[in-house]
Amino acid sequence: MLLPMFEFHEPLSIEEALELKKKLGQNARILAGGTDLLVHLKKKLVKTDNLISLSRIKALSLITEQKDSIFIGACATMAQISRSPVIAKKFTALKSGCDNLGNHLIRNRATIGGNACNASPAGDTLPALLIYDSVALLESYGKKREIPIADFFTGPGKSCIQPDEILTGFRLPIPTDHSGAHYIQLGKRKSSEINVVNVASFLEYDPGTKKVITTRIALGSVAATPIRAARAEAALLGQAPEEASFFAAAEMARREDCRPIDDFRGTAGYRQAMVGVLTKRTLATAYERAKGA
Ligand SMILES: Cc1cc2nc3c(=O)[nH]c(=O)nc-3n(C[C@H](O)[C@H](O)[C@H](O)COP(=O)(O)OP(=O)(O)OC[C@H]3O[C@@H](n4cnc5c(N)ncnc54)[C@H](O)[C@@H]3O)c2cc1C
Repeated sequence: MLLPMFEFHEPLSIEEALELKKKLGQNARILAGGTDLLVHLKKKLVKTDNLISLSRIKALSLITEQKDSIFIGACATMAQISRSPVIAKKFTALKSGCDNLGNHLIRNRATIGGNACNASPAGDTLPALLIYDSVALLESYGKKREIPIADFFTGPGKSCIQPDEILTGFRLPIPTDHSGAHYIQLGKRKSSEINVVNVASFLEYDPGTKKVITTRIALGSVAATPIRAARAEAALLGQAPEEASFFAAAEMARREDCRPIDDFRGTAGYRQAMVGVLTKRTLATAYERAKGA
């Protein structure tokens, strides 16, 4: 399969990229690592006369720690995020998502912005972005806006990003003390596989009352978009962080929160059962990490 013909643009700054996007309009696509887009172009699922590559814009690949948050540039690759000391220490579920995506070759090219804009319900970094309460930073010519990640995904392969916008990165609040998180993905093979179910959980407890004071649970591959498990979260809030409450929350996620479908990777029933198993396991590990934090 050959790539179709296109004009290739390599802006050196975000401003230059936005000018190009404005000038070329719908007839241009943003290219980050290309691990989704080039495949789609070859398969003729996407057509365009222009590709605007972001790879020479240094500001988009930065990972920087601010006072209460970190900034991850949209073009930071999986390998780069995984190697970052602040991610390894404070954002363990995101690191797991990056480590599990594809294979070594893919992780060296694939970006977090591309994973989000591709908006697959099974995307490996998306549950972690949800549980860390990330904010997506969008820019168009002369305008910026911030979207909570929970409002970013609008359907399979669809996001709220407008045709004239570029995703510049994510802001993630630094998790508080006494909090921990974990991510588990289940696929039919160990690598380069689309997930059957993927789950991330975040938990913070009060060491005085020994009760859960914050929890965020995100489910992938079981709805049209990656979703938060609202009923499971409500069931766990205010409870003691222990096996019985993790089980009760997992049951809510399994029974009430997910809406899986049958496909050749697994039945809806299997996916639903695995939501229960993975939710309980991610919560238990998140709590172990919270105790050590
Ligand atoms: C062999 C193989 C294995 C894979 N395995 C996995 C896996 O295990 N888990 C998983 O989640 N994914 C997997 N993928 C899919 C893919 O690697 C990821 O989704 C990756 O993160 C996409 O990032 P990218 O930088 O390559 O995006 P690109 O392909 O460059 O872009 C993807 C889409 O996002 C848009 N886009 C990219 N960046 C921006 C931006 N900053 N602003 C606006 N629009 C933008 C592009 O226009 C395009 O529509 C795999 C792909 C391959 C080929």
